[in-house]
Amino acid sequence: MISTLMVRSLSRGKLSVFLFHKVPRQCDPLVPADVDLMRFEHLLDHMCSQFEVLPLEDAVDCLHTDRLPPCAACITFDDGYPDWLIGAAPALRKRNLHATFFITSGQFAGVPLWHERILAAVRRLPGPVFDLGFPFLPAQSLAGLDDRRRQVQRLEHELKYLTLHRREQILLQLEAAAGVQAADVPVMSEAQLRDLHSQGFGIGAHTILHPILDYCSPEEVEREIGGVREHLQGIVGGQVNGFAYPNGRPYADFSRLHVDAVKRAGYRYAVTTHWGVADAATSPFQIPRFTPWAERDWHMTYQLVRNLMTAPVQVPEVAA
Ligand SMILES: [Zn+2]
Repeated sequence: MISTLMVRSLSRGKLSVFLFHKVPRQCDPLVPADVDLMRFEHLLDHMCSQFEVLPLEDAVDCLHTDRLPPCAACITFDDGYPDWLIGAAPALRKRNLHATFFITSGQFAGVPLWHERILAAVRRLPGPVFDLGFPFLPAQSLAGLDDRRRQVQRLEHELKYLTLHRREQILLQLEAAAGVQAADVPVMSEAQLRDLHSQGFGIGAHTILHPILDYCSPEEVEREIGGVREHLQGIVGGQVNGFAYPNGRPYADFSRLHVDAVKRAGYRYAVTTHWGVADAATSPFQIPRFTPWAERDWHMTYQLVRNLMTAPVQVPEVAA
């Protein structure tokens, strides 16, 4: 097939890394755009037909020693969701596919993921109008499902680029207005993380509280990058060698300072969310990733090919 030949020829010496997040069995009505399990399995089957999937840590080593197999690809997940144990992980195992899960560790210490807190709060906010009294969040309707979906999007957009302190203040007010406690928000448990690890999947770090690193103080950067590694290693009882930058866009979400902090913390590689593929010249500390989302096979092949032709953007690094 011509598309397979195209992928084969374009991917010589190139590494495609795919990124997923939550994979629910059924999409939450408030987040209908999530990739549900059925679509995820379809994406996996399509990927398997085009690529050879290998563990990310091995692939990064191969990339820089010129031993990358043809059509090499890796599968990764970010954040940490309990649904993975009953959906994504069994789907991967059924196909004998490796994946690496980059985990936000605050959820093991009683702080659920910030966007999951928004979701839980918006679900319960009393209507018919949402008004926390912030000038940047003018009052809006909560009358219908579409209104609540819009509130989720608006809050994620407005709270993403804030300091950790400011974001927490607003989340607490939001939760108070909705009557939501931390215990009402779904989190992954330490036992579930150990379960993933013991199934042979890779475990990487994705900070403690999922801040935008460029909005963190130097102390917060050290904690969010170095502290999370120690925390996760303590839970799984093994090495955690990979890091995923939160939100992950070079320049917008992290800079050279954070790449340096990742190196200082002892990680061996790190991944971004900039589209594109890595080759031997790509820094192992800024491996690009891509999320395919197409529903039809021809469209997905088109997305994969376009990604194979995209050069990653990287922030400059200090020479070792
Ligand atoms: Zn994330």
